[in-house]
Amino acid sequence: MIYTIVKYGQPVLEKKAASITEFNTPELLALVDDMFESMYAAKGVGLAAPQIGIGKRIAVIDVTSGEDPSQRLVLINPEIIAKEGAQTSEEGCLSLPTFREPVTRPQKVTIRAQKADGEVYEMTGEDLLARAFLHETDHLNGTLYISHISPLKRDLIRRKIRKLQKANEWS
Ligand SMILES: [Zn+2]
Repeated sequence: MIYTIVKYGQPVLEKKAASITEFNTPELLALVDDMFESMYAAKGVGLAAPQIGIGKRIAVIDVTSGEDPSQRLVLINPEIIAKEGAQTSEEGCLSLPTFREPVTRPQKVTIRAQKADGEVYEMTGEDLLARAFLHETDHLNGTLYISHISPLKRDLIRRKIRKLQKANEWS
């Protein structure tokens, strides 16, 4: 099932999501599958559950956009446990369509997370994968990438979105 992506302005995007305590349930497995399907349909490389209106600590990532199924990652209750270096590149978000801004983030990031069966794993990613780990973990804490840009640029984006909302082009 393909979910509609929730856009900036919806409160669920700015709330801390709830931890997952039950693993391997049919509901959880179906949700993870649906999140991949929804992410690929939206041509994203990552999707967090709040972006489909579900306030739970689940995110999916595939930096190959579906070209290499072995690169699919499920992050349940993820935490950033190490980060180093810096990288700057343009970042976007499915919940803020059409906008992109340069964001400086750590270049190398290690996460600790759980799989859908509850198994705990650690993984280190660099460059785009490091950026995805940070962006998706941020989502689960109610933080959007525009928190990492200058207040001036953030206000400009907010003003543009308000105009789109008034024109009923943002819902
Ligand atoms: Zn996002």
